[in-house]
Amino acid sequence: MLEVLKNEVYKMNMELPRNGLVYWTSGNVSGRDVVSNLIVIKPSGIKYEELKPEDMVVVDLDGKVIEGDLEPSSDTASHLYIYRHRPDVNGVVHTHSYYATAFAAVGKPIPACLTAVAENFGKEIPIGAYAPIGGEAIGAEVVRSIGDCSAIIMKNHGVFTIGSSPENALKAAVLAEGVSKTYLLSLLVGDPEILSDEDILEHKNWYKTSYGQKTGSH
Ligand SMILES: [Zn+2]
Repeated sequence: MLEVLKNEVYKMNMELPRNGLVYWTSGNVSGRDVVSNLIVIKPSGIKYEELKPEDMVVVDLDGKVIEGDLEPSSDTASHLYIYRHRPDVNGVVHTHSYYATAFAAVGKPIPACLTAVAENFGKEIPIGAYAPIGGEAIGAEVVRSIGDCSAIIMKNHGVFTIGSSPENALKAAVLAEGVSKTYLLSLLVGDPEILSDEDILEHKNWYKTSYGQKTGSH
């Protein structure tokens, strides 16, 4: 079932190691089928190089496994909490990507000192409070603290990103890591200057209306 979505979620999971966002088996991508409201998610504890599209697990919004021989990701309850509370979200990515997670360790957000932050995330990538692993507490804190941003850094843990599709959530994860790397490097060479609210808004709007091809595909 859900062949197309399973393939897409598989491909987006494989983009995590390709973009240097994960090590060993950490990290996961899920996607929502908008018709059935079922969720496709990576199985728990399987190495990326051994993953296959058919290994993706189908669960309902309460976490019941609908199809799949493997256990779903240990972060499944948190992904499901996000889907239940954010009907606009059809893709969720979680990683411990190196640079963004450095800011998780100290509990600091990524401010808009770069146009890339303003364009993609607005005023900042916010920081969420520490929450225990395993249940849905992390998902609850993501929903509480992410606001209208597509990414959040969870204190002492890592990054969650959301999107209208698994690919858009992946894009936010790649960009969050990119701006975190540059921001961290900027702290070594001086004091990063934060853009004005006016400049942030201008960049955000410009990116929404003018960036990319005229067909609207960014
Ligand atoms: Zn994690």
